[in-house]
Amino acid sequence: MARIVMKFGGTSVADLDRIRNVARRVKRQVDAGHEVAVVVSAMSGVTNQLVAWCQALAPLHDAREYDAVVATGEQVTSGLTAIALQEIGVDARSWAGWQIPLFTDGAHGKARIDRIAGETLLARMAAGQVPVVAGFQGIGPDNRVTTLGRGGSDTSAVALAAALRADRCDIYTDVDGIYTTDPRIVARARKLDKIAYEEMLELASVGARVLQTRSVELAMKENVRVQVLSSFKDAPEEGTGGSLVVDEDEIVEQEIVSGIAYSRDEAKITVRRVPDRPGIAAAIFGPLTEANVNVDMIVQNMSADGTTDMTFTVGRADLKLAQATLANASATVGYAEILTDPDVAKISVVGVGMRSHVGVANTMFRTLAEKGINIQVISTSEIKVSVLVGAEYTELAVRALHTAYGLDAA
Ligand code: ADP
Ligand code: ASP
Ligand code: MG
Repeated sequence: MARIVMKFGGTSVADLDRIRNVARRVKRQVDAGHEVAVVVSAMSGVTNQLVAWCQALAPLHDAREYDAVVATGEQVTSGLTAIALQEIGVDARSWAGWQIPLFTDGAHGKARIDRIAGETLLARMAAGQVPVVAGFQGIGPDNRVTTLGRGGSDTSAVALAAALRADRCDIYTDVDGIYTTDPRIVARARKLDKIAYEEMLELASVGARVLQTRSVELAMKENVRVQVLSSFKDAPEEGTGGSLVVDEDEIVEQEIVSGIAYSRDEAKITVRRVPDRPGIAAAIFGPLTEANVNVDMIVQNMSADGTTDMTFTVGRADLKLAQATLANASATVGYAEILTDPDVAKISVVGVGMRSHVGVANTMFRTLAEKGINIQVISTSEIKVSVLVGAEYTELAVRALHTAYGLDAA
């Protein structure tokens, strides 16, 4: 008998038939004698709609009210899933974040989980009940609902698996595993049976949204066995046939590049003609940090006349907030103007093999050059190279790189 957390994403609970399908899958595990806790996302499209409503009323809305609105999607599906389970004879009960409780910090809209009090759920599970937890949400120090950032139900699931000391955390989604790149834009993407935590972490952080970055971080830290699998395809045995996220040394044949990711969720900001003096980066990025805006790629250009241009990227959803923050800081920074460009995409190649092989970046630059794609910003880490390009080149760039690194399926 195992203890399993089963997480179902938005497309897996998109309508009542799919929720019934989820209930049947859960029942199979319960019937096999396992203790199961379920985590659900909102129906696909619902969170987008809720976010859009907040933005339509006020682009710089109160983050606490944003959370009050966007957390509702998961509330609906957790209740519906519990009803569907009860209908087929499985004892089930829904749980909102505050009821567990799942405590987070106070960063509304992108809160981090501090602690999950798992005792009550464990007792219910031991008594044969299936908790159906609303993903994506928790309760903050201000006693208000918080959400964990887009895609956050993955993190709810992994954190719950850690708190419940589960044997497995199965992430059911609309693809049957983790691929060398997004199978929706590259038909020849290859499914990976196993991927190292570190590679998945890097891929997720640069846009492979199949798992939220924090969920991988947490899985790595807490040693949670995470599997990604399809909620639509039937495997010979429930809970098999997907991709496992594992320690690096469990992977026998390691490729140099294991995956390619893209993100269209970035926006480019250029702060023009700032004084080229010590403290200028702090003057720009300090206020952005205080405003909770994450800055990603950064380049500072050379200049001759004592001023310089600072170019960097932020999440596209944070663009307005970043602009407002920089406008407030204009007196201390002293820039000529702010240019913004939301039509950019970040393309990244990832692989632990880069530690020991040179030339990976060069292959990337050459491949993009051959396709006539201009590179606007570059950033690298030990196992990753990222470039910023015009958004219209996203598919072309990903496909060309997938072929260039020999990743295409036969
Ligand atoms: P869910 O709603 O189940 O959480 P998501 O849409 O968040 O699903 O994540 C699944 C999607 O991630 C897939 O439909 C796929 O388009 C995308 N994706 C991006 N990169 C990858 C990858 N390397 N492997 C598999 N899927 C990927
Ligand atoms: N419903 C939330 C979102 O769309 C959380 C999730 O699906 O993981 O971001
Ligand atoms: Mg997701």
